[in-house]
Order: sequence, then structure tokens, then C-alpha cells
Amino acid sequence: MDTPLDRLTEQFRRLPGIGIKTARKLAYYIVQEPPERVDAFVAAIRNAKETMKFCSVCFNLSSQDPCPICSDSKRDHSVICVVETPQDVMAIERSGDYHGVYHVLHGALSPLDGVGVEDLRIKELIQRLNDPEVKEVILATDPDVEGEATALYLARLLKTAGIRVTRIARGLPMGGDIEYADEATLAGAVANRQEM
Ligand code: ZN
Repeated sequence: MDTPLDRLTEQFRRLPGIGIKTARKLAYYIVQEPPERVDAFVAAIRNAKETMKFCSVCFNLSSQDPCPICSDSKRDHSVICVVETPQDVMAIERSGDYHGVYHVLHGALSPLDGVGVEDLRIKELIQRLNDPEVKEVILATDPDVEGEATALYLARLLKTAGIRVTRIARGLPMGGDIEYADEATLAGAVANRQEM
């Protein structure tokens, strides 16, 4: 069976966190929506895909390049906060206390999943350290096995560059995800970062 509904279900099933039941539910929902609602949905997907790009400095997602954070002269460009995903940037921004800039790795080291140094934006991070303005790198990778391994790897690498390297404080649940940490906990974790 390969009906239009099956094909739509299959597209939803490919999305992260969507199982077959939810995919089917969404597909049935969409085909029963008014045409203008569906058009708006399709247009929003296409527009987001066409306008959002990676910032060539920090690799965050933005419709501008450099992104608004990198091009903001009021922010502290001497501190770079290293995170795994663009969603982590959003989470730290929401916590409201951080005024430095970011670097998005796009993942964490995970040999079992075949994610190595070359797969992350590590080379680009090292290049940014050539700027004498940079004084500190805060490692804000997730407090799980991959995130900790990535932080350790980067700490060793960056210290040879003579830069201050800090790690966000404990207090975030081990095995957790920065993206889903509550704002106060996250703000505290950045404020109470420790030397590595
Ligand atoms: Zn940027």
C-alpha cells in the first residue's frame, strides 16, 4: 500500500522523536485541515529552510551572516561559549545572564556513533582563537558521556593555546541536555563555571 496518506505519514515518521502512531495521526490531521492552513504550513517550512543558514563565524542558525549575536558590538567577544547545538544557544540566551559569543560544534564526540573530531566544528573554533581578543572559552557541552568527553578533549587542546578554559558548573543533571535545562539552573551553571 502506498497511498498519498502513507507517503505523508512516512515523511512525518522521519522527523526526530516521531513514531509511526504520531506520524499517522499528523498525516490524518493535515489532510483534514482547510487548504489555506496547509498552504501556510508548507510555506513556513520552505521559508525557514531557504532563509536559515549557518553563521560563518559561530555556526549558529540565523537568517543573517554573521548572525545578530556575532555582529553585536555590545556583546563581549572575548568570551566564547562552546555548545553542541543551535538549540543550546537559544537555551543559554533565554537564561539571560550570558553576554559573550558562541561557537556551535554541531554534535559531540561519539566514537560509537562514528562522530569524530573532523565531524565537528573544532577546526573553526581553533581558528577563532587566533583573534587576540579571545580570552576565555566556556565549555557548555551537555553533561552526558559524549559531552564530557568532548569538553575534556577541547580543554586539553585549548590549554596548549594558552587560553582560559572553563566548564559550566555541576548542578545540571548528569545525562541531561542543556536545551531542556530550566533557566535558573542554566544561568547558575554558566555563572559558577570552573577552571579546567
Ligand atoms: Zn554567529
